[in-house]
Amino acid sequence: MSIRAELKYKIMKDYGAPALMVLQDFKRRKPRPIPEAFGPPLESNKRLKEILSRHYFLSRYTPGVKKVAWVTSGAPVELLRAFDFYTIYPENHSALVGAKKQGADYCGIAEGSGFSQDLCSYARIDLGHMLSGKTPAGKLPKPDLLFCSNNICQTVLYWYKAIAHELNIPLIHFDAPFVTTEQTEADINYMAQQLQDMIPILERVSGRIFYLNIFEDILKRSMETSKTWGAILDAMKAQPAPMTIFDAFGHLAPIVSLRGLPVAQDYYHFLMDEIDTRVTQGIGAISDERYRLIWDNIAIWYKVRFLATFFAERKMNFVTATYTNAWAETTGYLDVKNPWTSMAKTYGQIILNNNLKHRLDLMKKMIKTYSVDGMVMHSTRSCKPYSVGQFDLRKTITADLDLPAVILDADIADERVWSEQQIHTRLEAFCETLEGSKHG
Ligand code: SF4
Repeated sequence: MSIRAELKYKIMKDYGAPALMVLQDFKRRKPRPIPEAFGPPLESNKRLKEILSRHYFLSRYTPGVKKVAWVTSGAPVELLRAFDFYTIYPENHSALVGAKKQGADYCGIAEGSGFSQDLCSYARIDLGHMLSGKTPAGKLPKPDLLFCSNNICQTVLYWYKAIAHELNIPLIHFDAPFVTTEQTEADINYMAQQLQDMIPILERVSGRIFYLNIFEDILKRSMETSKTWGAILDAMKAQPAPMTIFDAFGHLAPIVSLRGLPVAQDYYHFLMDEIDTRVTQGIGAISDERYRLIWDNIAIWYKVRFLATFFAERKMNFVTATYTNAWAETTGYLDVKNPWTSMAKTYGQIILNNNLKHRLDLMKKMIKTYSVDGMVMHSTRSCKPYSVGQFDLRKTITADLDLPAVILDADIADERVWSEQQIHTRLEAFCETLEGSKHG
């Protein structure tokens, strides 16, 4: 660790980051007008932006101070936190690029180097970033370690292998057997053993010793944070719902990328308080909520605002989503007394590593408990594991629950896949059916 780098990091943490917040506040003096279809915006939005800006800002000053790990969204990050890695989530960064409508540009760079357009756009954006150094976050630190898990898809393994090869750095892969019917004892033990086997490698890369009590504290914090996130999502059962799922897509960022850190825990307490107040006072995310919807699959990051406005103007609010639920669904398995097996259960059973029957049952339950009137499924070109099976799910759910549903063909972060006319036609037809079903 260099004393100079450490001093610089400390100065940036104590003075640089707060100064940046003031500057951002100044720039935001003239907020965009809120369309009438929406209720008052969440106060927490400002705090969320500050946390994320600060995280990316400080990441620039980590080399020489902390070891940096690039991590996939479903990886058991709590273990890395015990070694004080500064974690960067390329998926989160790619979503940021997508939201800024710059996805096609970054994807183009990766495609120009030979990566197929059929590859997930999160991967292409990240590879585009790695090849060009471009980022809307200013600058990202180079990783000392890559940490991935195939519990979300197989793509991440090959994507991270490409980075490991290019940067000549270690890659740790947490292999999670797919749950075809139920998780077996053998699967749990296999995953639990992998986690323990990682410790000497993490000690070597980080230069730190593993202390079980530190790890347990992190696990406890992670559990509590995920529980609060789950409670926030639960609060959307209220009518009107205190926020939209489009808000939740943004507020998801800390639970994905800062899970296990005090900043995420504090943030969700703050958001929970605001959500509770809104529920008590009957404040809805949209002005006049008449229809309640469920969203399936990852957000279409470059069209979040468009979709939020389109539905709010039709008095339709998304109150739940399989995507936002993913970071609350299995964390109830976490148990500080059995850290290894409980992590295996938690991370081995997340939605994308679980079978379609599980997803069907889960969605049916969500539709009932959130009083949902209609379903929008995003069939995304990028994410095959999330999109395969959606037509069967729609058919069964529509038949069993008599629920109007539509499938939108688009992409998470590559805006070239969006077809304005086709989406409009499908959305208008869906809204007409939904209105007819509720009043007819
Ligand atoms: S979007 Fe899907 S394919 Fe892409 S990294 Fe995530 S889980 Fe994998």
